[in-house]
Amino acid sequence: MTLEYIHQLIRDVPDFPKPGIVFKDITPILEHGEAFGALTRHLAERVPTNVNKIVAIESRGFILGSAVAQHLRCGLVIVRKPGKLPRATLRESYDLEYGSDALEVHEDALRLGDRVVVMDDVLATGGTAAAAERLCERIGAQVLTSVFLMEIEALCGREKLKNPFVSLIRV
Ligand code: AMP
Repeated sequence: MTLEYIHQLIRDVPDFPKPGIVFKDITPILEHGEAFGALTRHLAERVPTNVNKIVAIESRGFILGSAVAQHLRCGLVIVRKPGKLPRATLRESYDLEYGSDALEVHEDALRLGDRVVVMDDVLATGGTAAAAERLCERIGAQVLTSVFLMEIEALCGREKLKNPFVSLIRV
C-alpha cells in the first residue's frame, strides 16, 4: 500500500485543540488494519538496522513506535508528559505549536551506548522531538535518526533537530 493512499486517510481537523490549529488526525489509519500494517512497514524501513531501542513520544508516537519496535524486535522506551512515569525520571522542557510542556523518561530506560530512533506522528515546530533528542543524549544514547509520519514544513521543525531525521509525508 502506497504512502499516497495512507496520506489520504489522515484527516485535517480545523481549530482543534485551539482556534487556528489544523489537527492532523491519524486515527483513520489505525482503524484500517491493512493501512496500519503498511505504515508500520514504511516507518520500519527508515530505521537503521543497528538500532536497539525506539524512543516513542506521548501519545500517538507510542502507537506508531510500539508497532515498529515489535516489527523490528527491538526495545521501546516511552517519553511521557510530566508526572506520568512512576519511577525516577529526567525532564526536558519544550515549546509546542499550542502551548509549552515538558517530557520525561525513566532515568534507567536508556543507557550509555544505546542506539536509538525517536518516533512520533507529527513534526510541527520541532520542540517536542528536540526535547526527546536531548533526553536521549543526556543519558549517553546515540540518536541515529528521528522518524515522523508527517512533517508540517511551514512550522520549520527541522531547524530545531540536531540529528538526521526522516518524514514520510511532508505537507
Ligand atoms: P511540535 O513540538 O510543535 O513539533 O509538536 C509535535 C507534537 O505535537 C507531536 O507529538 C504531535 O503529535 C503534536 N502535534 C503538533 N501539532 C500537531 C498537529 N497540527 N496535528 C497533530 N498533532 C500535532
